[in-house]
Amino acid sequence: MIAEPDPASLFIVLRLYNTLSRRIEPFVPREAGRVGMYTCGPTVYRDVHLGNLRSYLLADWLRRALVAEGCAVTHVKNITDVGHMRQELLDRGEDKIVAAALAAGQTPQQIAARYTELFLRDETRLNILRANVFPRATEHVPDMVRLTERLLLRGNAYEVDGTVYFSVASFPAYGRLSGNVQGTLREGVRAELDPHKRAPADFALWKRAEPGRALSWPSPWGAGFPGWHIECSAMSTRYLGEHIDLHTGGVDNIFPHHEDEIAQSEAAFGSPFVRHWVHGAHLLADGVKMAKSSGNVTTLDDLLTLGYDPMAFRYLCLLTRYRARMNFTLGALRQAAEALDHLRQRIRCYAQLGGAGGDDIEPWRALFRQRLADDLDLPGALAVMQRALASGLAARNKIAFALECDAIFGLQLTEVAREHEALTAAERHAVTEHVALRSRRRFKGADAMRRLERVVVEDHPSGLVLARTERRLTGRTRRTVMSARAVPHARSHELSWSILVVSRDHAEDLERAVRSVLRVMPQFAEVVVLDNGSADDAAERLAHLVKRERRVRAVFADRALGEGAAREALRLNARGVNQLHLDPSVELSDDLFALLEPVLAEDGTGLAGPWGLVSDDLRSFTEATDREVDAVQGYCLAARSDTLARLGGFDPRYRFYRNLDLALSFAAREAGLRNISVGSGLVRRHAHRAWEALPDVERERRSRKNFDRFLKRFGDRRDLLVASV
Ligand code: AMP
Ligand code: ZN
Repeated sequence: MIAEPDPASLFIVLRLYNTLSRRIEPFVPREAGRVGMYTCGPTVYRDVHLGNLRSYLLADWLRRALVAEGCAVTHVKNITDVGHMRQELLDRGEDKIVAAALAAGQTPQQIAARYTELFLRDETRLNILRANVFPRATEHVPDMVRLTERLLLRGNAYEVDGTVYFSVASFPAYGRLSGNVQGTLREGVRAELDPHKRAPADFALWKRAEPGRALSWPSPWGAGFPGWHIECSAMSTRYLGEHIDLHTGGVDNIFPHHEDEIAQSEAAFGSPFVRHWVHGAHLLADGVKMAKSSGNVTTLDDLLTLGYDPMAFRYLCLLTRYRARMNFTLGALRQAAEALDHLRQRIRCYAQLGGAGGDDIEPWRALFRQRLADDLDLPGALAVMQRALASGLAARNKIAFALECDAIFGLQLTEVAREHEALTAAERHAVTEHVALRSRRRFKGADAMRRLERVVVEDHPSGLVLARTERRLTGRTRRTVMSARAVPHARSHELSWSILVVSRDHAEDLERAVRSVLRVMPQFAEVVVLDNGSADDAAERLAHLVKRERRVRAVFADRALGEGAAREALRLNARGVNQLHLDPSVELSDDLFALLEPVLAEDGTGLAGPWGLVSDDLRSFTEATDREVDAVQGYCLAARSDTLARLGGFDPRYRFYRNLDLALSFAAREAGLRNISVGSGLVRRHAHRAWEALPDVERERRSRKNFDRFLKRFGDRRDLLVASV
């Protein structure tokens, strides 16, 4: 049996960045050993996205670390249901989902209940510990009214026509958290032009209900509804008292939300509101904050649809420090999923096969604590755990240590370590059967048994390892590279030819090109395809092709690399003495290699290919074949690998494909080499989809950029032209 880790064995004193003091400080709750923690929760009239979840994961990790420190934590996470606000937004029907739900006759309450359910489901999927209290705004309106009354009484608020405003001038410390001092506030909030306000920076505590509003509550100022910020001040006081040890949220909450919370609570109670403010940096997508309004939202459901275990997202978030912004990509998620799979498999092996070793866990514990204590350095802490797993520790200790660490990471490794113990009788029977078949050398039968319904059985040199099917990565995932530099270099040129293709989407074009190559390719040759960030189905088809065709390899880029960088990566990866760079729009109709080989073998040859270009002014080029040319067109361009290396390869600054071939061809001319068109009889050119997909101006712009680059280098080198020799 594997024991539950004892969290107290990991005593640490956390040092955390405090947004209020702008320093990393020891986290010290007011009362030793007890922590009141408040997290700004979701607005439940839209899907929770991965960005929101990153912020909730931060709160979860903080809480787990505090528990490990021995604290009793009370965690409150509010649910902003339709109570306070944004009726305007509902009325205007800006949110399509909400508008649709309203049109279908649902009440705002029903919509909020539905999204609350989905939010809680997502938190569970990510193994986020349940908050002790999830207060709903709609259920605490009387608290908000009372707090507003108190602020009026104390002279921090004023009422105009049924709406109550907080007077920012009455609270001199306003701006301390966000650094938005009063003088500069006017600009920050210029969108609001409410004539009732005494000062532009004042904000509403209570708003008068417009006629016909569905959600309004009685108050001393007439029917109305609370402002957003008062919600958190009122509910945090209700469940945690007037003082909160730790308040978390995303950085976008700092202003105005948290600034206003401070003003309300401190003005009302006359004492410091929050001891430690911790804000998580944003999750970005395509370089900007993930947000519904930006249209770049990914949800946990999306990840599940793509076949990802939600825990892979948790693992991914562990890899970036919480104060650093993190750009979300599927490629990065894929890598995280693979790393998690690897980690789980390691745990299973140690749990099921054991392993010799010695040493004490204590030094590892110290390193782990140190990383966490340093402003919650989770990537560092994860690295410590990984190093311990690869160290000379005894298997039993490795498991024990990993599970201790996982009390913080929350990757559910305990369940992984117990998978083999938790088999049903039927599963156990199937595994025994498999072993029996194997021992009778009935490998075929054993193979068929290998993937039992919910159990994966793997043979390792020292025994069998069982895994839960749903926690094991299937072949669907691919290794991806995030930059051209990550593509491995060939160590030697042991083949005669490498055929190199850069491809993006349009799987049928790629398949046509590769099939045509495979028909005529010499024996000792390879095809390497760089998938330049295709949408999933095209990448999937390539992955399939690679499985079927032994002589085809693929490198998957996480996103589109520039053409120059992609070609260069392939050049360096190629294992052939000769390389043929081929565009997916080209089809070989016969053995082009036999034609090219003697030409490339000749001394003094630079590039060769079916289609050439000639010029007499370096400004305009015309197509020429069957002769020495100035340039060989990039659609189908061959050279010896050593020649390309001598020329310095492809220039990665050419992000677009056009004119990249001119640059390389003239580098060859400059090196005193001859470029040869061998004739176009053995090739066919089909539509070039990447080119066709571009609007005219864009074609022009990108081509121009490359051509200018080319001219800058070779523009006055007419001496290099064949015509001038
Ligand atoms: P909201 O529903 O917009 O009030 O957001 C709920 C929580 O998610 C708040 O703590 C926000 O700061 C946080 N949040 C929103 N967008 C992101 C994002 N892209 N990355 C990280 N946190 C976010
Ligand atoms: Zn809040």
